[in-house]
Amino acid sequence: MLEVSGLNSFYGKAHILNDLSFTVGRGEVVALLGRNGAGKTTTMKSIMQLVHPKSGAVTFEGKDIAGYSAHRVARMGIGYVPEERRIFTDLTILENLEVGRQKPREDAPVWTVDALFEIFPNLSERRNNRGKAMSGGEQQMLTIARTLMGNPKLLLLDEPSEGIAPVIVEQMAKTILRFKREGLTVVISEQNLHFAGIVADRAIIIESGVKKFDGSFSELEKSPEIRDAYLSV
Ligand code: ATP
Repeated sequence: MLEVSGLNSFYGKAHILNDLSFTVGRGEVVALLGRNGAGKTTTMKSIMQLVHPKSGAVTFEGKDIAGYSAHRVARMGIGYVPEERRIFTDLTILENLEVGRQKPREDAPVWTVDALFEIFPNLSERRNNRGKAMSGGEQQMLTIARTLMGNPKLLLLDEPSEGIAPVIVEQMAKTILRFKREGLTVVISEQNLHFAGIVADRAIIIESGVKKFDGSFSELEKSPEIRDAYLSV
């Protein structure tokens, strides 16, 4: 579904992603792992074309989307949930969801407000409350739910377990597994190896914008030297 090949991304003169290549298959959940500053967010932004790579290709369903606008990428079916939550604090939860509504696609799960309220019961209970009254975890859930209202085929989630209470982290893991069952393809960026191991089928480790590992969590389990070298565990 997604192929990133030979990607080089910069901020000004700073060379952040270095010939980065990987693929994501339809229906897979892939975790991008790496320490703070390794380049995980930049990878997501480069897929989304919020950062335009200087060279390399980002092929989504057979089309190279490098150089497209982020808006066009979203319309093609990639949903992006950034680390910083983006909700409309003056709108209610329900209104926030309605703002995200897009036409259904044939080859992606179709989400309704009711289906999302079933997955996120906390949001349902407070559907008429304004966004500003919400906790960080609830804002994170709402950002994800609103992105799903766009019916994406591929969901990019930047650090979904970051800054939320442990009980919500557990709920978040179940939610991502539910998305997978519904047929969504998901890429998450994570520093929490345990969380990533629960939700993802495969791990890709990045260090200074270079890919250092691409494989299963059981392989990673057998390679403590890789974990020690590139992850903060
Ligand atoms: P984190 O977990 O902290 O988000 P990350 O793996 O997502 O880490 P990135 O946010 O992609 O890492 O950052 C990669 C590198 O790019 C870091 O060295 C960071 O300081 C630098 N960087 C990030 N954003 C910018 C920017 N807007 N301008 C310049 N440098 C940036």
